[in-house]
Amino acid sequence: MTCPHCKQHHAHRSHRSGLADRIRRLFQMIPYRCRTCKRRFYAFRAGEQSPRMRTNEERKIMELRRRLKWKRTKRELIIYGFAALFVAIVIYLITRPSTAPLSGS
Ligand SMILES: [Zn+2]
Repeated sequence: MTCPHCKQHHAHRSHRSGLADRIRRLFQMIPYRCRTCKRRFYAFRAGEQSPRMRTNEERKIMELRRRLKWKRTKRELIIYGFAALFVAIVIYLITRPSTAPLSGS
C-alpha cells in the first residue's frame, strides 16, 4: 500500500480502535499505517485497488487471489449442483409409483 503522505510503499493495515474507526467502517474505510512516516490514514475499500495506492506487484497478487477464489467458488457450485441432482434422483426413485408386476397372478 502506498502512503499518501510520503509516497512510500510501506503502509500496512492498522487495527481498528475507537469510535472514529467504527464509524469509518460503516463507510467502508480501512485504516492503514505507514511504516516509514508512522502516519495513519484511511482508504476506501473500493479505492484500494487503484494504481495510485497499489504497486503493480500488489495488484497482481490481488488479481491472482481473486481468480483463485472464483475458481474455488465455481468448484463448489459444481459440487452443490451434483448433490442437488443426486437428491432429486433419490426422491424420484422413492416416490415414483411401483410398476413391478405382482408375482403369482
Ligand atoms: Zn508514509
